[in-house]
Amino acid sequence: MVKFLDLQKINAQYAAELKQVAADVIDSGWYLLGEQVKQFENNLEVFQEGGSAVAVANGLDALRLIFKAYIELGLMEEGDEIIVPANTYIASILAITDNKLKPVLVEPDFDTYNLDLNLIESKITSKTKAIMVVHLYGSVCWNEGLELLAKKYSLKVIEDNAQAIGARWKGIRTGNLGDAAGFSFYPGKNLGALGDSGAVTTKDPELAKTIRTLANYGSSQKYVNQYQGLNSRMDEMQAAFLNVKLRYLDDETLQRQKIAAYYLENIKNSKIILPKAGEVAEHVWHLFVIRTNNRNELQEFLSKNGVQTLIHYPTPPHLQECYIDFNDFSLPITEQIHNEVISLPISPVMTDEELELVINFLNEY
Ligand SMILES: *Cc1c(COP(=O)(O)O)cnc(C)c1O
Repeated sequence: MVKFLDLQKINAQYAAELKQVAADVIDSGWYLLGEQVKQFENNLEVFQEGGSAVAVANGLDALRLIFKAYIELGLMEEGDEIIVPANTYIASILAITDNKLKPVLVEPDFDTYNLDLNLIESKITSKTKAIMVVHLYGSVCWNEGLELLAKKYSLKVIEDNAQAIGARWKGIRTGNLGDAAGFSFYPGKNLGALGDSGAVTTKDPELAKTIRTLANYGSSQKYVNQYQGLNSRMDEMQAAFLNVKLRYLDDETLQRQKIAAYYLENIKNSKIILPKAGEVAEHVWHLFVIRTNNRNELQEFLSKNGVQTLIHYPTPPHLQECYIDFNDFSLPITEQIHNEVISLPISPVMTDEELELVINFLNEY
C-alpha cells in the first residue's frame, strides 16, 4: 500500500538522535521555558535568515497571539476587519474570530488556490487593519502589488506559514515577507514535532515581546501579569525534537520538490488538472493537490489500488456549522475547489517505486 504520509518512517530516519535528546530532556529535570526552546528559537531565526522567533504551543495559537498582541498594542480593536482567503484551513479564520475581529473572506485564484491578490483592494474599508495571506499547500502567496497595497492603506500583512516553512519569494523566506507569521509544527507538517507546537516570527521586536508575554499568562516577570494572557508555551521535549529535525528540513524539502516535479512531468490524464508550480515563488509542496470533476470516484479508484489520498479540504470554513452566519456567502470558486481537490501522497520518504505506482494508476484512470 502507498501511504499518504508515513510519519513512523519519517521519524525513524532520526530515531537515534530523537531518543537521545528525549533522554537528555528527561534527565535535565527542566521541561518548560528552558534551553531547548531558546535554542530552537535561535535555530529558527537562523533558518529564516532574520527576524525574531517566539515558540508557542501550536500553529493556531501562533496566529491567535499575533492578533491578540496587535490588540494589546492598540493597533487593532474588536470589530476591525481582516482580509483572509476563503480557501484555507479553518485555523486561519478561527485566529481572527477568536479575537472578535471580522474575517473578510476573499476568493482564491483558480491557478494557485491561494488568495486572489487582485481582489483585495475592492475589499478594503475604513475598518480594514490587516491582510492575512495563507501559503496554502506550501505555495507562496505574495507579490509586489500586495506590498504596495499594504503600504498605501497602512495595513499589516500576516502570513499563515503553517504549510510553507522553507519556501522563498525572490530569495526571502516566507514568514519573513510580512509583518508577522504563524508556523505550525503539527506532526504532519513539513517540519513536524512529535506532538503539538508552533511559532511566531516577526521583524518587530515589540510585537515579539508582547507575544512572548501573552503566551506565558501575560507575564514576563513571575507573578506579575501585564495582560490577560494564555498558556501557550512550547514544551522543552518538542523543542528538542525540532532542533534535531530542523537540520534535515532543507534536504526533506528538496525531496518533496523532486517528487512534485516528477508528478508534474509524468501525470498525463486529461481528466486531471495538475497544480502550477509558480515562477518566482519556491514551492515546498506540503501537499500535492490535483483537481478532477469526479474526485470521489478517483479517490475510490486509487484506494482500491492501494493508494491512500486525502481531501484538503472537504468543506470550506464558511460552510461549517460553527460559522452559521457565513453559510449563505457566495464563494463559488472556493466551493468548486473544495469539491474537486484530492491530495496525492508526497513525503520525503516516498520511494521511487511508490511514486511510479501512483503515476501509473493516475494515468490509467
Ligand atoms: C496546520 C495549520 C494551522 C494550525 O496549526 P496547528 O499547529 O494544527 O494548530 C493553521 N493554518 C494552516 C493553513 C494549517 O495548515
